[in-house]
Formats: sequence, C-alpha cells, structure tokens
Amino acid sequence: MTTKLLSVEEALEKVIEPITPLGSERIDLLSALGRVITENIIAPIDIPTTANSAMDGYAVRAIDLENASSRNPIRLKVIEDLPAGYIAKSNLDIGQAIRIMTGATIPNGADAVVMVEVTKTDGEYVEIYESVKVGQHIRLKGEDLQAGNLLISSGTKLGTSEIGVLALVQRPFVKVSRQPLVAILSTGDELVEIDEPITPGKVVNSNSYSLAALVKACGGIPFIQPIARDNEAEIRTSIEAALAADFIISSGGVSVGDYDYVKPVLNSLGAELKFWRVSMKPGKPIAFGMLKGKPYFGLPGNTVSSMLSFLLFVRPALLKAMNLAAPWTLPKIKVVLDSDARSKGDRRTYLRATLRYDNGLFYARLAPRQGSGVLSSMLGANALVVLEESVTEMKKGELVDAIIISNMF
Ligand code: AMP
Ligand code: MG
Repeated sequence: MTTKLLSVEEALEKVIEPITPLGSERIDLLSALGRVITENIIAPIDIPTTANSAMDGYAVRAIDLENASSRNPIRLKVIEDLPAGYIAKSNLDIGQAIRIMTGATIPNGADAVVMVEVTKTDGEYVEIYESVKVGQHIRLKGEDLQAGNLLISSGTKLGTSEIGVLALVQRPFVKVSRQPLVAILSTGDELVEIDEPITPGKVVNSNSYSLAALVKACGGIPFIQPIARDNEAEIRTSIEAALAADFIISSGGVSVGDYDYVKPVLNSLGAELKFWRVSMKPGKPIAFGMLKGKPYFGLPGNTVSSMLSFLLFVRPALLKAMNLAAPWTLPKIKVVLDSDARSKGDRRTYLRATLRYDNGLFYARLAPRQGSGVLSSMLGANALVVLEESVTEMKKGELVDAIIISNMF
C-alpha cells in the first residue's frame, strides 16, 4: 500500500505546532547582538532632550536678519559662547547672537541658527550676510524619539541598529530569549571522526559539523555527541544522553535500510513520531516527533539532504523556540534560470544554485552536480531553486522560485 507523502508545508506545520518558546535571560547590551529580544522597548523620554543646533554658527532671532544680504550685512552683538552639552546663561534679546556649536541647546529667545560660513567676526560683534528662516538649522526636541514611542517589539532579532538605539535609551542590559541547546548525534558504522584516519570505505562525519554550524548560524548552541554506531544499544544510549538538550538532531539511520535503527529506538523510547518521510528531494527520509517533551529531528544521512532538511524544518523550529516573531521560513524570490533544470517530477526538488544580479533580475546558476551526497555543491550556493512536484523540466530563461539560504552579496 502506498500512502501519499506529506508535502513540505504539511510537514512544517506539524513541526512548528508543538514547539514552545524558551524562557528569557538578562544580558549585557553588546552580547545581545544577534539575539531575540523578549521585551518591548518604549522610548522613556524625548530624544533629543532639547531643541539643539544642527550646525556650528550663531543662534539668532530670524527677524533681526530679515534684510541681511552680502551687500547689507547685519551686525549682532555676540553675548555668549555655547559649546555642546551646556545651556546658555542668558536669554537672547533684540540685536544679539550667541555663538553655538553643533548639538548645543538653542538658547531662549533664539529661533534660528546661521552657519558660521555666512558670517564674519568683528571683535564682540558678528556680521551676518544672509537672512534665515525661523527654525533653520534647529533640530527639534523629540525629533529622533518621542517619549512613549514603541521602538523595538518583543520578538525582534537585535542587529547593529537596535544595539545603537538601545544604548540611546540607556539600556545596558536587555531581556533576550535563552538560546536553545541542540544535541547533534551522527549515526553510522562507516563514519570516522574529523581527526581519525580515513580508510577505504569510510566516511568522515561532516554532518555533525555542518549541522552544528547551522545551529550556531540560527542562534542556537550546538552540542556534538560522539558517533553512534549502527546498533540499537548505542543509538539508544546516545539519544538518551541527548535528552539533556532542548532539541535533538540526529543524522543518518532514518531510512528503510537494514541498519536504520533510529526509528525503532525512538518508538521504544515512547516518541510520538509525527512523520518520517516528506515529499522532497533531496531529503525524503526525515523523522520528526516529540521525545519526552523534546523536539526530535531524525535527519537523513546524506550530506546535502541533512543540511537542506535542517534549513526547511529545524531552522523554523529553533526560531520559534527563540521567541522570534514569525515568519520563520526563509525568504523566497523569483529568479531566472541560467540553464535548463530537470527533476523526476515525483517530489518537490530543491536545486542548489548561486544567484547573480544583473540589470534588475536575479539569475540562478545551478551547481553542476546535484546529488544528495555532493556536499561541495553547497559551496557558494546562496539559493535553492524549487521545482514543484510534477514539474519535470524548466527551460533556461524561465522564471522559477528560489529560496534564499545565505547572503547574496
Ligand atoms: P543513512 O541515512 O544512514 O542511510 O546515510 C546515507 C548516506 O549519508 C550514506 O552514504 C552515509 O555514509 C552518509 N552519511 C551518514 N551520516 C553521515 C555523516 N554524519 N557525515 C557524512 N556523511 C554521512
Ligand atoms: Mg547510516
């Protein structure tokens, strides 16, 4: 009997549904770069706190300079010198000016600033060669932030601008989501560790590293466990140890081969498996379920499949757990194919591609070898071109969907 495979969207819904947000911690501002904030940030006061000068020059009353021009300079008496950070001691009266620096508070009585460039000093006086409009070169109180403004909402990932704004509102510490601890375990008799000699027939355990790197790139904390050999006892011990983490990811051993023990072990540990196959290529064998309250992802062993299934399923789950506001999926854009693309048409196919931008359009150059074990096809790939189920061919020059998987420039 054949049962219809779940679509990627159906599977993703099943993944997202049981994920619960992690708690928060208070950390220092600079450490919060890249973390998800879990409090709303409201401007406590107006910034700037006072109206201030946008230029080095003279604070004046615009009306005094109504008739000023190069042929008719107006002389004003300079009554004070005002650096940034200080408040003028005197109020400005008719016929007076206060020398003012950028950022200094506009003195009472002044309603404009003239740039130093259109003035000439003459002892206690200044000659001004241009008229000014009321408000000229004055930054208003609250021009940047107004008390009560919502500046950053809970669920925002903090980037460099957010760190600057948080400093502006004097937040040396902020509340952010805890980072999920993600146990990573690789299974397989053929695997050797990164620092072990590789003999014929053996395979270096690269998945633990690519997956750990993906976890880090998403903001999680990876914990790599020793390789579990293809027997129930070792896999069980490894999975039980992994339960100390918030999330568990295994790679390999989820297929229907004679040595694929992950599913039986999960079942014997009482896991609620939500699915174990998805209609996608690469990556069809992928198990997901809750194991003693922890999300468990059994990713395929093939190097490319494990990375792609991470991006499509594990990443959104980690982002939800980290309290990030939705959407949790990677962005999708339309791109032009640089070459013909083929698929068997039985499952949705994801092809590794490198995008280049030219004259208003993104063009996708497909990696020449698209095998699910060709890890080098991921080098430089910044997108996955999507061929929908039942599509067997798309021609060079046609528009297709592409999922952005890394920086494009
Ligand atoms: P499996 O899903 O266990 O049947 O493995 C599928 C393919 O992926 C096999 O060719 C494995 O050798 C390879 N593979 C499995 N685990 C890893 C790993 N941790 N690192 C690199 N390749 C792996
Ligand atoms: Mg295996």
